Amino acid sequence: MRALRVYTCPKNLLNGPCGGVRGEVCEVDGKECPWTTTMARFGGTVPYMLFEEHPLLVELESLVEKDSEPRASTFWKNLERGKAFSIEFPIAAVKGEMDIIRVLGRVDADLLTVPDNPLGYPHVDPVAFSTYLKVLGAKAGVMPHITAKDRNLAAISSELRTAGLFNFEAVLMVTGDWPDHGIPGRPVFDLDSANLVRLARLVFAGVLPTRECVEVESRPRVLSGMNPHYRPKLEARRVVRKMIAGAEGFFTQVVATGRSVRGIREILRELRAYGEFEVPLVISLLYPIEDWIKPMLERMGIPTGNESFEELLEELKALDVGGGINLIVLSNDVDEWLRLEKEARGIIKEVIG
Ligand code: SF4
Repeated sequence: MRALRVYTCPKNLLNGPCGGVRGEVCEVDGKECPWTTTMARFGGTVPYMLFEEHPLLVELESLVEKDSEPRASTFWKNLERGKAFSIEFPIAAVKGEMDIIRVLGRVDADLLTVPDNPLGYPHVDPVAFSTYLKVLGAKAGVMPHITAKDRNLAAISSELRTAGLFNFEAVLMVTGDWPDHGIPGRPVFDLDSANLVRLARLVFAGVLPTRECVEVESRPRVLSGMNPHYRPKLEARRVVRKMIAGAEGFFTQVVATGRSVRGIREILRELRAYGEFEVPLVISLLYPIEDWIKPMLERMGIPTGNESFEELLEELKALDVGGGINLIVLSNDVDEWLRLEKEARGIIKEVIG
């Protein structure tokens, strides 16, 4: 059985909804996301039956002889202990090499994540930037976000090969935001998140879209996104589908309120309907959440509340999902960013340990 095709998704996704669904409304055109009703209609269906693979990837699958070994890393070791700590690199704050070196010298994290131009705003190429962090000798691992918003399948495969070649610890495969800055240019969206995950696992197993096979000794971990703000039953189904595609862990969208923490709990409960398995989960937190940022978060589909950072951490502690925390500090100034990062880290240590 194949999934129902949806012809009205602006990103032409094979396996929606994408992370840009706001409640049940599409981030692009403000209409109801057609995947919400499509997935709900398949209430009792096992999720792999709702996984439509890209035709090329189905063909490549048959060429895989063996998977490569995932690369050992402090990040993954700590993730398994429920103690992973990652930080989003302040790409908007650094103005040059000296800033980058200062940040590298001060942060104490298992993993540095490098976002892919959120909302389509042009910052830096996340894979090139991650490579540079490696060249500079970053103690922490690196994980670029790799998205399909402005790269086609061939370009994404090149990025994955780069990630493999330069010993990245992980890649985060997400569809990507709809470009929202009025910049002329055609969005791509060749692949949805489940097929992005599948492509990463194929390239890391040494199978290229040209149908060539190359030797690969070890590979980065492949992670994907979880949306705590989407209907729990449907989000659980999306998570299982991505795991079937090869996702080994998940980073949540930003969690800014206790309601979103409870959303995670609901999704994990729904996941039990599919079996007893571990879902390595890293929860993304923003610091500080001041009143000026709340309207923007709400526009991005991220609920906000009045909880303090400490209260939010207490809720997360009670959730006890293991995995870890991903900290995103908001500042476009390196000095301020370093001060806020230290402050946030201190609070996290005090509340969570
Ligand atoms: S929310 Fe995403 S999956 Fe749904 S219609 Fe819009 S672009 Fe497509």
